[in-house]
Amino acid sequence: NGVEALKMDDTPRARSKNLDVLAEFEKAETKNAANFVVIGHVDAGKSTLMGRLLYDLKVVDQRTIDRYKREAEKMGKSSFALAWVLDQGSEERARGVTIDIATNKFETAKTAFTILDAPGHRDFIPNMIAGASQADFAVLVIDASTGSFESGLKGQTKEHALLVRSMGVQRIITAINKLDTVSWSQERFDEIRTQISSFLTTAGFLAKNLAFIPCSGLHGDFIARRSTEEAAKWYTGPTLVEELDNSEPVHRALTKPLRLTISDVFRGGIQNPLSISGRIEAGSLQNGDALLIQPASQKCFIKALEIDNAAVDWAVAGQNVVIHLSGIEEQYVKVGDVVSSPASPIRNVKELVCKVLAFEVLVPMSVEVIRGRLSVAGRIVGILGVLDKGTGEVVGGKKKVRVVKPGQLARVKVELERGVPLEAPGRVVLRSGGETVAAGLLE
Ligand code: GDP
Repeated sequence: NGVEALKMDDTPRARSKNLDVLAEFEKAETKNAANFVVIGHVDAGKSTLMGRLLYDLKVVDQRTIDRYKREAEKMGKSSFALAWVLDQGSEERARGVTIDIATNKFETAKTAFTILDAPGHRDFIPNMIAGASQADFAVLVIDASTGSFESGLKGQTKEHALLVRSMGVQRIITAINKLDTVSWSQERFDEIRTQISSFLTTAGFLAKNLAFIPCSGLHGDFIARRSTEEAAKWYTGPTLVEELDNSEPVHRALTKPLRLTISDVFRGGIQNPLSISGRIEAGSLQNGDALLIQPASQKCFIKALEIDNAAVDWAVAGQNVVIHLSGIEEQYVKVGDVVSSPASPIRNVKELVCKVLAFEVLVPMSVEVIRGRLSVAGRIVGILGVLDKGTGEVVGGKKKVRVVKPGQLARVKVELERGVPLEAPGRVVLRSGGETVAAGLLE
């Protein structure tokens, strides 16, 4: 379980500068980094709103927008131009829906954001889960136009909110969108805010982690600028961008033990070392450090580091790095493997307990456990209880539960076919027969 590797030779293979990485990080004044996922009912205006945000922050230029407008007009869907900023595949455009998780980046004064876009279509829930598993917070988009809010609530709004909650997302910024369609009615805004707020708090979100912004993604009111509409004068709170930037710095797990899930393995560079890349989830690293690769329990060393194609001496949680390795053979390094430090290793487990939201009926059954890019076959061997969605407490006392119904939150025990590096509070997804059957957190 990783401990054998500690007995291996650990003479450093590369020169270490022995830096105090945390002090270096403070000095560098690196921007705070945050990922968020966009959720809400189909047609709530998610793509349009994010397109507007990127456009107003000058991430996309006028020429691109003009080109999209012309293409959209040709198809008779001129209002879609902004939405296309996010989904640039022509096939998606022709169908008028967003499919993949398009990743988009933008920066405000204080923070570098990554949008993990989530489409609203029912079939695309697996993509949203992939986004939610990396999200620091969520932006929930609500269509305020007459009747739409109500049908959205019956649709995906609640489902998405419960899903991100079950995956450990704690903060939601709600964009009450399309207020232009109801003449910027404050009454409508208040009504929706009250309902969403009560739903979210019942679902276990704390009131202090909720914010509500009235806006129009289509016209750009209260996204990156204030509204020029007379009827919108009543709103004096922050714009969406201000609210994003006001957020407390996302807690970077800098002082925690090193954890990185490998997202790519390749050979590159002049001396052709074995190289890996991934986002550092916790901790920090520097040139010369010893690393432990799990589940193979193999030790190796950092020969060189790169961020954005530039050589660096160190890297910290939140950053995407390329690590050139020495002292290890290719067969021990795979996508989905976890890198830690031999001093505080992640251990391989063959059994886990997790708290999941069920999308399908759960009984003792075969499942595939997925955490990011790691995937392992296993079996639900026990249902330890159905839980209250708000409090997380077991409901129904000690009575034995045999079945979890769709929509229920439950604690389940899973046995795995092989030992893999998994630990709390990792976010996991359970799949069966090609379908996502549950998603939640390791305990
Ligand atoms: P998504 O499915 O949530 O990504 O929604 P889209 O961004 O594709 O928008 C769905 C429809 O709503 C499109 O026709 C948009 O032009 C329209 N729409 C989006 N935002 C607004 C808005 O703020 N006001 C108005 N009036 N229409 C909007």
